[in-house]
Amino acid sequence: MFICYLGIGSNLGQRRENIELAVKKINSLKSTKVIKLSGIIETKPQGGPPQPKFLNAALKIKTGLAPLTLLKKLKNIEQELGRIKTVRNGPRAIDLDILLYADKIIKRKELIVPHPRMFERDFVIRPLSEVI
Ligand code: ADP
Ligand code: MG
Repeated sequence: MFICYLGIGSNLGQRRENIELAVKKINSLKSTKVIKLSGIIETKPQGGPPQPKFLNAALKIKTGLAPLTLLKKLKNIEQELGRIKTVRNGPRAIDLDILLYADKIIKRKELIVPHPRMFERDFVIRPLSEVI
């Protein structure tokens, strides 16, 4: 089992529900348990087009899933939640990022760990510092 830290963001639809549902789904992934969830904070969008404010949180988990498998499962969860949102509200409402995976350094096209932009993002570092 490996200790991992995930970042969660949502700025569409029922943001808090999206985050809570994502956490539940992460907790029910094979050989994965949520150890700690940070508080949920509201943050201003940084970059990109004008868009609603975000809710952000961080998670400490332990998992037996390999990094790329975990990423795939997280993308599935994003899609599942996105699909619910598409029906009601349009675009994807959840962003799940792998911030840290044990002490691994990963540099692949589809997965970079530690997450390359985490250190300059207050909305990532603040919740992360609560669960680390
Ligand atoms: P962003 O999170 O930057 O707003 P997306 O969620 O659309 O954008 O992710 C874009 C791609 O980033 C994903 O398809 C994924 O393969 C890649 N990626 C690279 N490193 C990571 C990481 N540490 N965690 C999550 N996705 C990552
Ligand atoms: Mg992402």
